Amino acid sequence: MPEDRQFYLAQLKERLRYYKEMGIDGLSVKSSLDGAFAAGAPVSQEVFRPAPVSDSAATKRNSSLFELPLNQQPSSESLESIRTDLGDCQRCKLCSGRTNIVFGSGTAEAKLVFVGEGPGADEDAQGLPFVGAAGQLLTKIIEAIQLTRDQVYICNIVKCRPPSNRTPEEDEIAACSPFLFRQIESIRPRVICCLGAVAAQTLLRTKTAVGKLRGRFHDYRGIQVMPTWHPAYLLRNPAAKRDVWDDVKKIRALLDEGC
Ligand code: URA
Repeated sequence: MPEDRQFYLAQLKERLRYYKEMGIDGLSVKSSLDGAFAAGAPVSQEVFRPAPVSDSAATKRNSSLFELPLNQQPSSESLESIRTDLGDCQRCKLCSGRTNIVFGSGTAEAKLVFVGEGPGADEDAQGLPFVGAAGQLLTKIIEAIQLTRDQVYICNIVKCRPPSNRTPEEDEIAACSPFLFRQIESIRPRVICCLGAVAAQTLLRTKTAVGKLRGRFHDYRGIQVMPTWHPAYLLRNPAAKRDVWDDVKKIRALLDEGC
């Protein structure tokens, strides 16, 4: 296969994977796409058009990517419009047991986003993330790096409480996580702190244990990701607080670097 076609196919594959992650399940493509990849056909520039110029880190990082003409574009959505789209969500079985959808709290301007696993009883009752015992510990962690809850954004992998606080199941994560990905894309923070295995493994698309992932930065679409222990785990294992302190100090240092 000619090199340029291989290049375009790789870019196309990556772009489609990204749209899938964002929950976009429909594409409108120009009819000129027909046969564009037939053996020997020249790569048509018509079926691709350059990504719009934006100052987001993702666009900078992916500036070589080409975009298919679409009827739905990711990014530059507000958190409010994502919440409106979520509506009275019935996309997975967790809806039947919830009192409130826990969308997220904090500022849309956050440089730091915390992602937990899913609401517990207190969060379900109040419609707010991390307001129970684990949440109080998270507040202390945030304050330990000279921030307040109002200066960050806090959300979860799933937005409805799993029964008896069980771990969210794969179909629930698949139904809900596109909304989280859109929230992250809307905020475009400098750093994401993943609290626990479910958050880290979902964002980083890995099955690696959080104990192996924590302590160093990973990449999520050009955003630095620091996995660390979940505050609920710290309540059961206070000795692990030292690890979390080490991890959040690294986050503080990165935020202090600015840019
Ligand atoms: N645990 C979580 O993962 N998220 C919450 O919002 C509360 C507890």
